[in-house]
Amino acid sequence: MTTKHNESMVAGTWQKPFAPPESIPQAADVVIIGGGIVGVSTAWFLAKQGVDVVLCEKGHIAGEQSSRNWGWVRCQGRDSRELPMMIESMNIWRGLEVEIGEDVGFTTGGCLYMARTDKELSAYADWLDIAREHGLDTQIIEGKELDKHVNAASKRWIGAMYTASDARAEPHKATLAIARAAVRAGARILTSCAVRGVETEGARLSAVVTEHGVIKTSVALCAAGAWTSLFCRSLGISVPQLQVRGTVARTAPAEVILNGNVFDKNIGIRRRQDGGYTVAHGSVLDHFITPSTFRFAFKFLPALVHELSSLRVSIGRPFFDAFATPKKWSLDAESPFERNRVLNPEPNPKVLKDIRKNFDEVFPQLAGTPFVETWAGMVETTPDVVPVMGEIESIPGFHIATGLSGHGFGIGPGAGKALAAMLTGSDVGIDMVPFRLGRFFDGSPIRLESSI
Ligand SMILES: Cc1cc2nc3c(=O)[nH]c(=O)nc-3n(C[C@H](O)[C@H](O)[C@H](O)COP(=O)(O)OP(=O)(O)OC[C@H]3O[C@@H](n4cnc5c(N)ncnc54)[C@H](O)[C@@H]3O)c2cc1C
Repeated sequence: MTTKHNESMVAGTWQKPFAPPESIPQAADVVIIGGGIVGVSTAWFLAKQGVDVVLCEKGHIAGEQSSRNWGWVRCQGRDSRELPMMIESMNIWRGLEVEIGEDVGFTTGGCLYMARTDKELSAYADWLDIAREHGLDTQIIEGKELDKHVNAASKRWIGAMYTASDARAEPHKATLAIARAAVRAGARILTSCAVRGVETEGARLSAVVTEHGVIKTSVALCAAGAWTSLFCRSLGISVPQLQVRGTVARTAPAEVILNGNVFDKNIGIRRRQDGGYTVAHGSVLDHFITPSTFRFAFKFLPALVHELSSLRVSIGRPFFDAFATPKKWSLDAESPFERNRVLNPEPNPKVLKDIRKNFDEVFPQLAGTPFVETWAGMVETTPDVVPVMGEIESIPGFHIATGLSGHGFGIGPGAGKALAAMLTGSDVGIDMVPFRLGRFFDGSPIRLESSI
């Protein structure tokens, strides 16, 4: 029988879902809004430096994207603007289990983008220049060489882009483990604690208002994933962000036919720690049209054109739900964040059928292996598919980190380290200019290097 991704999967190991915090701190050096991998990693790095940090999560830790993703931790194929942060992230992942003393399922098994045609292979080969510039071990492999990585692969594919140093981790374990490490280092993490908005004195941030009370602070980070645009809009800040739904399945334990992350236009697959595989369609994402689609259409045009063949666009209930969601609310009444503790979209049944068919076709050795769990997650993306990270000029002290765009799990720990430095005014060590929100408003061309 197939089960659906359910909230107890991650909530059970942390706390009972939706138990309100026993008390709310009156003040903190830094308040983080959102308990996904970005928020908890930032909290961990801040707490290790002795910063008094409080993290507020409206549902439970890793309830949304951070537990629902494929689990790929990769440098391969990334936008070059993200690579310095991703390379640092990979270093953190490599030492993570030893440092925090917990299993996160981190395994260096490599990453393969498979090509069926010369055209596909030569498009991958174009990325080798970027790889070399950043000192990565990415290479093109062909013919029988493929069989060393995926059983009988040379029968199906002509070659692949391969990065041996790329890795994977278990999403349902990693973010929770980092959150526990943050708490051990002194962070306070409050779940079932939605942040409704902020207060200012002059223009400067002075407090964060939660459903359970006010926390005085002069520094906040909004790492609210798919909710960031709505949250910021209520503060008069425009964050161009759209959502796409990804549908995923996991199989029962099965024979080892590959040990890495394998991508082909029909399938994305990786080996799991429990002996099964996490599988998805290689190139199908759903986009439900909402009023934001029209509001941000112009900025997203290049991305929409680029992703045209993979996007299944539809209009229906999500349009009216989004239309009915208030854009501003009183801070002493229930906000949209309390009304939806965990964004838990239904997996697309048609896509699940396609995943089943593609899996059986591409890997006949595993045909019929049951799917034991299916789920979906809402990916939030920006017009250039690169994150937005930085301080908001109109509210000094208020920062955002969002738009990790379908590849934020791998980069999460590196983002946390950089953001912790940014929030404390220390040397970030990498160029954060490419991530500024202003790039979407100052006439800079929207530069698209990679896909969602
Ligand atoms: C199907 C799928 C496959 C993916 N595959 C990969 C992959 O293989 N590799 C990879 O690197 N990335 C992948 N990603 C992307 C990755 O999961 C995300 O980029 C990453 O998890 C984003 O982390 P986050 O912390 O920014 O956001 P989230 O994990 O979404 O966390 C944001 C949190 O903020 C909370 N929140 C929102 N508003 C409020 C509020 N007002 N008050 C309090 N809390 C609030 C939410 O409840 C949520 O828990 C995938 C994503 C999906 C959905």
